[in-house]
Amino acid sequence: MAKIFCVANQKGGVGKTTTTVNLAAGLAKVGQRVLMIDLDPQGNATMGSGVDKRSLKLTIYDVLLESASVTEARVKSDKLIEGGCGYDILGANRELAGAEVELVDVERREKRLKQALAEVDGEYDFILIDCPPSLSMLTLNGLCCAHGVIVPMQCEYFALEGLTDLVNTIKQVHANLNKDLAIIGLLRVMFDPRITLQQQVSEQLKLHFKDKVFNTVIPRNVRLAEAPSYGVPGVVFDPASKGAQAFLTFAQEMVERIATM
Ligand code: ATP
Ligand code: MG
Repeated sequence: MAKIFCVANQKGGVGKTTTTVNLAAGLAKVGQRVLMIDLDPQGNATMGSGVDKRSLKLTIYDVLLESASVTEARVKSDKLIEGGCGYDILGANRELAGAEVELVDVERREKRLKQALAEVDGEYDFILIDCPPSLSMLTLNGLCCAHGVIVPMQCEYFALEGLTDLVNTIKQVHANLNKDLAIIGLLRVMFDPRITLQQQVSEQLKLHFKDKVFNTVIPRNVRLAEAPSYGVPGVVFDPASKGAQAFLTFAQEMVERIATM
C-alpha cells in the first residue's frame, strides 16, 4: 500500500514544488516506486519533472472530473529516466483552475482524488502531491487522501503565523474527513545558517513542534533554483550540489519515517 503525502503550505513561494519534485526524485533514486501528482494549476511540478504541461492530453483535471482514470492520465518523463530518478507523473495545467467551480455541485467532491487513487495504490511506495498555495478544494482533495502532510517553510518571522491556519485545517480534516491523516512534518527550507533570525525561528519551531520538525534541513542553494529551467529536479540536474544532497538525505529520512508509521 502506498504512503500518500501532501506537500502543502497556503503561503506562496515557500518551496512546495521544489520539495515535491526533489523528494520524488530522491525516493526514486533509492529504488522507491513513486507517483508525483501536480495539484496546482500553475503546473510547475509538471514542467519541473520534464513534462510539457501544454502538450498533455489528460491531466489531474480529467481524473478529478472522472473523465479519465489515473492509469490513463499518468505519464513518464525521459529526462527523469535518463537521470536515474524515474517517477510517474500525474500532470496539471491551467485547465485545473476550473475544477474548483465544476466540482461545486458534486457530492463528496473532496474525496474525488482519494477514490481515483485506490486503483493504483498497490503500484507505488510513495504518492507525493504538490498542492497549490491556498486552502482550496484542490488542497482539500489532497488532504483527504493523505497519510501525512509535509509543510515546507522558511524560517522567517511570519512563517509561524500562517502555520496556525494550516494546522487548524489539518486538524479539521483529520476529525471530519480523513482519520488516516496522521502526521505533519515541518521541513525547514531555503535555510541560511548565517542569518541569526533564521536560527532563532528554527529553534522556536523545534521547541513548539518537537519531533514534528524533520531532522533534515534544506539549505538555500542556487542549483535547486536553476534546475526547473532545465526541466528536471535539482537531484537530477546537479546531484553533487548541497541542495541535492540535502534532498537525498531527506528522502532517506522519509523512508525511515514510513517504516515506523
Ligand atoms: P507556489 O506557492 O507558487 O506554488 P512553491 O511553494 O511551490 O510556490 P517553489 O516554486 O518551490 O515554491 O519555490 C519558489 C522559488 O524559490 C523558486 O524560484 C525556486 O526555484 C526557489 N527555491 C526553492 N527552494 C530553494 C532553495 N532551497 N534554494 C534556492 N532557491 C530555492
Ligand atoms: Mg508550487
